[in-house]
Amino acid sequence: METQQNNVPQTLTSFYAHAWEDLLSNCTRCGKCVEVCPVVPFDATLAAAQPVDVVTGVLDFMKDSSQPMREDSALWTYQCNGCDECIPACPVDINPRRMLMLANAEVSAKTHPTPHMFQKMARAIRILVSMQLVPEDAARLLKLKKPKDVDVVFFTGCNPVRTPQLLFNAMSVLEALGVNYEVMGGPASCCGVIHSKWEGDLQRGGKVSEQTLHRFGTFNPKTVLNWCPSCSIHLTETIKDYRSVSFDFDHITKFLIEREDELHKLFTTPVNMRVVVHTHHGMHDVGQNVMRLMRAIPGLTIVDEIEEPGYMCGVSSAERAPALKEQVRAQTIARCKQDDVDALVSLYHACHRQLASDGKTHGFQVLNYADLLVRALGMEPYADTLEQFRGRTDYREMVREAAPLLEANGIDMDPDELARVLPEIFAMAEWRGGLCSFSPEE
Ligand code: SF4
Ligand code: SF4
Repeated sequence: METQQNNVPQTLTSFYAHAWEDLLSNCTRCGKCVEVCPVVPFDATLAAAQPVDVVTGVLDFMKDSSQPMREDSALWTYQCNGCDECIPACPVDINPRRMLMLANAEVSAKTHPTPHMFQKMARAIRILVSMQLVPEDAARLLKLKKPKDVDVVFFTGCNPVRTPQLLFNAMSVLEALGVNYEVMGGPASCCGVIHSKWEGDLQRGGKVSEQTLHRFGTFNPKTVLNWCPSCSIHLTETIKDYRSVSFDFDHITKFLIEREDELHKLFTTPVNMRVVVHTHHGMHDVGQNVMRLMRAIPGLTIVDEIEEPGYMCGVSSAERAPALKEQVRAQTIARCKQDDVDALVSLYHACHRQLASDGKTHGFQVLNYADLLVRALGMEPYADTLEQFRGRTDYREMVREAAPLLEANGIDMDPDELARVLPEIFAMAEWRGGLCSFSPEE
């Protein structure tokens, strides 16, 4: 429930301050969360450190952040990939993943490693979507909708719209089930994690989260279905109870599992493929929901499931501990090549972008689970519109090819300038402090 003092809603700054007071008084500094953390053995400094010292360094910084965090604690805080293996290890029921999410926000507030991230990201997303979609489809994902009563809001998050076909395929499944829904997504409906965790701006982050939660409520939904695990962890774990809401918040795969009897009846078309399924350890339930959905598809043979570290691919999760990620990714690639599978099944948007590039390099196809669900329903899945640009470096030619869609979507940018920034847009350089030409100061 929402906490209020003198009828004034708490700010996110005071919410984080209360969360830290709780952590500082309840954490016994036993170090068990560091002992079980799988990223620790992959970093020489962390592996040589005392677990008690590592966690104490995080807590000391949060007590007084005027001094930098000690080195091993800072490495642990940054490299946390959100895998959740520490959560059951804590003897006093603290969620160490949440502790490090909160600590990362304070580090960002002090050091500003990714300045103006939201503005840069929003502009990059608009350009990338405009290169792929006709205006009607782009508007469906990016534009704010007028409130109307629906049973379900499908909340895509910001970054998933870079791979629009995944979301359109998921919406096709909702439509096949006859779900009364509206879609909300893109930077106009950000969950607030970019401002809070990446920019360290709790004031703005709190307002953005509150505005998006409020907008969900204007549709009077029974359930908001999310796609993106970063949004999910931010809204349902890191800032859980910051604001009270009148709807359930679930992952779309849970919603589909609850309707699996209906789906089974609609799965009329065999999908005769042998596949490896890519899942993640963090938010384990989502991966297992996908496994269950895949097992229900007629004709589909699951050769293996490979669970990769973190809760998602990409710099917000698995990429934070690159050596660990690369080790398991090599197993994924080897399994696909060794068994000569028809496809590797991707989980989230960031997974799909990355795995599709690996597939192109190593000669295997990557399909998202929503694509396979649509095939089983006897429909044609939406095409992977990023594929036409994947792996290319002829940026001027890409701008020329995309010019009609860019113009139709109202992107008025000098073609040479766009060709210059495209490498950074495709590399999502703003997540590493880059894409500075989109900074409002420059
Ligand atoms: S969530 Fe995973 S990576 Fe992060 S601290 Fe816990 S065990 Fe380590
Ligand atoms: S396991 Fe729990 S009590 Fe022990 S150091 Fe980690 S967060 Fe604190």
